[in-house]
Amino acid sequence: MSKTAESVWNNCLAFIEDNITSQAYKTWFEPIKAAKLTDNALSIQVPSKFFYEWLEEHYVKILKVALTKELGTNAKLVYIIRMENTYGNKQPFTEKIPSANRSNLQSQDVDVPLKNKSPELKNPFVIPGIRNVKIESQLNPNYNFESFLEGESNRLARSAGLAVANKPGGTSFNPLLIFGGVGLGKTHLGHAIGVDIKDKYPEKTVLYISAEKFTQQYIESVKKNNRNDFIHFYQIIDVLIVDDIQLLSGKAGTQDVFFHIFNHLHQNGKQVILTSDKAPVDMIDIEQRLLSRFKWGLSAELNHPDYDTRVAIIKNKLYRDGVEMPDDIVEFLANNIKTNIRELEGAIISLIAHSSFNKKEITIELARKIVDNYVKHTKREVSIDYIQKVVSDYFQMDVDTLQSKTRKRHIVQARQLAMFFAKKFTKASLASIGSQIGQRDHATVLHACKTVDNLSSTDKQFRKYVEDLSKKLTL
Ligand code: ADP
Ligand code: MG
Repeated sequence: MSKTAESVWNNCLAFIEDNITSQAYKTWFEPIKAAKLTDNALSIQVPSKFFYEWLEEHYVKILKVALTKELGTNAKLVYIIRMENTYGNKQPFTEKIPSANRSNLQSQDVDVPLKNKSPELKNPFVIPGIRNVKIESQLNPNYNFESFLEGESNRLARSAGLAVANKPGGTSFNPLLIFGGVGLGKTHLGHAIGVDIKDKYPEKTVLYISAEKFTQQYIESVKKNNRNDFIHFYQIIDVLIVDDIQLLSGKAGTQDVFFHIFNHLHQNGKQVILTSDKAPVDMIDIEQRLLSRFKWGLSAELNHPDYDTRVAIIKNKLYRDGVEMPDDIVEFLANNIKTNIRELEGAIISLIAHSSFNKKEITIELARKIVDNYVKHTKREVSIDYIQKVVSDYFQMDVDTLQSKTRKRHIVQARQLAMFFAKKFTKASLASIGSQIGQRDHATVLHACKTVDNLSSTDKQFRKYVEDLSKKLTL
């Protein structure tokens, strides 16, 4: 009985199906069609270049084993990448097969011969007619550069943002990672870059998305079995702005798919802009390969605004709202709300609201009352010293013992718990936590956090420690 492409491929599929999860099989193997069999080379047709890259990275070994079983040690695998006319259009393939592509893993025995390199394939994602597909950029036009006031605290990030907006994908700031604490303007600056690019290059496809929404979309696509559409969608974007990427931490599947989308965009000269509330070195549970990508471009920090910048931001807001406020009140606000621009704006808004509802003048007394409310309502951050004290008390040791260099198990555990809670309940960086808990380095703290995570899921007694301490610390 002579072999056909179908029979060979079906045997391979049977073998692969037994060896991977059914979800993976459905996603990555069911859409493949056997195309051609010549001598010892099997050609398979895959839906996109991305698909091919994914197979090469994740499944090349199993493909090799399966194919070798069928065709012997000289087996070769040829990918044929199907071209699509329009994004998301599931029309059956009707065009000529544009080309096969050479595996980028030439050292592998599954050798993929190089056939023609049609110009189309160089960038299979510039799909004819794609210009008709409108992608809503999700940008907020009010978050622009004009309303983003410059100060010492944001100069680097702001000018890097402007440089990126002038030449998206054409600077070494790719990705541009903007990081900084809550309410310091990360989201605003991310939008501003997008808005400016849309202004200068209306034909570019710009997309702003929060990492949270990205994650939801991805999960949804896995459920609905249209993950390919999800991926294709992200691959046709020229400028991708992902907000709060620290939210990807611990989400391996989402990180994996983002890694591939990122690589694709980057390789094709597309611009990626990311924001995070932590510096890359302080991100926990983000895969190393993704972290290293984040560091390829520029990481620019947004710091707490200095006094002059705070005054400028308040005045600008008042001006835009058409409200007048005496200088001493502006100064009072700038002096009392220092670390969060969102809170500063919130205080101004309640001040204006109070005075207009109650038909009162804006006075310093009113300002004081509102600021008091604001500052009281904002949660007080527990200090690292306090955490060390609570943990030491709980294990009936003193803080010096907790910080000591001993390797005694219960002391090591107490120290690791203190580090874990310091990471959880304060905004301090890993390095700063380490230096305050017995002069350790950031890697030790990171290790401690992971150990506590692991132990609390495997060790019942340990989990109780974590729960008890959590309660004590959040009282
Ligand atoms: P983050 O994303 O870092 O938490 P946002 O971008 O949401 O912070 O900023 C919080 C608020 O502060 C927004 O209303 C934003 O417009 C304002 N803001 C932040 N930085 C500036 C700035 N440099 N100039 C003017 N407004 C700012
Ligand atoms: Mg934000």
